[in-house]
Amino acid sequence: MNISTKNKPASISNQEFLLGKSLTQLTDWVQQQGQPAYRGKQLHQWLYQKGARSLLEISVFPKQWRESMANFPIGRSTIDYRSIAPDRTRKYLLRLQDGLTIETVGIPTDKRLTVCVSSQVGCPMACDFCATGKGGYTRNLQASEIVDQVLTVQEDFGQRVSNVVFMGMGEPLINLEQVVTTVHSLNQDVGIGQRNLTISTVGLPGKIRQLAQHQLQVTFAVSLHASNQKLREQLIPSANHYPLEQLLEECREYVTITSRRITFEYILLAGVNDLPEHAEELARHLRGFQTHVNLIPYNPIQEAHYQRPSQQRITQFTQILKQRKIAVSVRYSRGLEADAACGQLRTSLNEMR
Ligand code: SF4
Repeated sequence: MNISTKNKPASISNQEFLLGKSLTQLTDWVQQQGQPAYRGKQLHQWLYQKGARSLLEISVFPKQWRESMANFPIGRSTIDYRSIAPDRTRKYLLRLQDGLTIETVGIPTDKRLTVCVSSQVGCPMACDFCATGKGGYTRNLQASEIVDQVLTVQEDFGQRVSNVVFMGMGEPLINLEQVVTTVHSLNQDVGIGQRNLTISTVGLPGKIRQLAQHQLQVTFAVSLHASNQKLREQLIPSANHYPLEQLLEECREYVTITSRRITFEYILLAGVNDLPEHAEELARHLRGFQTHVNLIPYNPIQEAHYQRPSQQRITQFTQILKQRKIAVSVRYSRGLEADAACGQLRTSLNEMR
C-alpha cells in the first residue's frame, strides 16, 4: 500500500535520529550533506534492512565521509537485559540514547513473530491492575525509538517481524503524532502491512476521533475492562473524565469514518468484573456494534491484589456474550513466566529480574 508521508517533516535536523525517516527524507538529508541522491537509498537499506547502528558501518559510503559522520545519531538502543519464557517469548530491557529504559516483548509462534512495543517511558494512565501504571511516567517515545524496538527484536530472533502491537508501556493516543509516524515507517520502511499493526488504547476524550482522521488501515483495539462507568473509574482512574457512553460514541464515529471494525479488550479480574451481570451489561452496550471482544484473563503482578478468574467463570462470561451474538475470543497472554505478558511491563532492571 502506498502511504503518504505528509505526517512526516519535509527534512530532518541534526538533532533528530535517522531511524523512522522515509526514503525521501533520507535522500534530502544526504543531499544536504553534499552527497549524491542515490546515497539516500543506500542509507535507507542499511538502516532498515541491514540494521546499521552507526554511519561508520555503512561500507558503501566514502570512507572519509562516514568517518566524519561516525557519531551522527541513528537512534538505536542497546539491550540491557533479556529474559526468555518457556514459551519462547522474549522480554527486553532496552536502554535509550538518554539513558532511560523501556521494555519490549517478542512473541514467536510457528508462522509469526509479533513485537509488543512501548510508546512511552512509563505511563500516566495509572490503571489499577497494571505494573507499568504503578511505575509512573517519564516521557513520550520518538518514532525512531519505537521503530528501533521492532528492529531490535527482529535482529535478536534472526527472523522477520510479521506483526506489531502497541500494547507495551504507555498510552499510544497520548503520543498520537509519533505513533502515526511509526505506523507509516513500519509500513513503508520496514515493510510490515498496516493490517498487521494494532494500536490499543484505554481511551482519551477526542483522541479516537483524531486517530480516525488519519484513515490508517491498522487494527484498532479499545480497552474497556469494565461494563459500567463506576467500575471503569475504579480500574482506570483517567476514565472519570471520559464517560463510557462518550467513549462508545467516539468508537461508533471511528467505525463510520474508517469503515473498520473495532476490537474491545476486556481484562477479566476475579470477582471484580467477571460476573454474569457484567457480561450481560457489556453485551447491552455493544449491541449493534461491528466488533470483536477479546477477553484477557488477568496476569497477576506483585503490585496489585487482583486474581485471575477460574476457567468456569471465563467460560460462563464467554457463553453469555456468544448468546447475545457478540463475536468473542479468549486471549491468554504469552510470556507470563518472564513477566512479559499484558500489564506486566516495567522500566527497571531490578523489577525485571
Ligand atoms: S494498562 Fe496501558 S494505559 Fe493502563 S497504565 Fe498500563 S500501560 Fe498505561
